Amino acid sequence: MDGVYNYMEHLVKKQLDEVLKRYECCKCPQCKRDMYAYALNLLPAKYVTSLEGEAFTKLEMLDASARVKLITVTTEAVHTVIQNVRHIEA
Ligand SMILES: [Zn+2]
Repeated sequence: MDGVYNYMEHLVKKQLDEVLKRYECCKCPQCKRDMYAYALNLLPAKYVTSLEGEAFTKLEMLDASARVKLITVTTEAVHTVIQNVRHIEA
């Protein structure tokens, strides 16, 4: 529905960029999409009705255990995808 957003998507995007800074792995669009989808499938959706302001992108919107899960799952997503790379080698 228009006007409803899953802010977990934004948190995963930010967290994925953070994790990828520490890895010398493939960062092509296909691998990043696979990592992103993998992580989102394991994390609960967090719906909001406004993307106004910055609050929706703040990690502080999650409680401590949800934050740990976001970081753990995102790191696991990177590991899983780089071990099962599906992109087409150019
Ligand atoms: Zn790739």
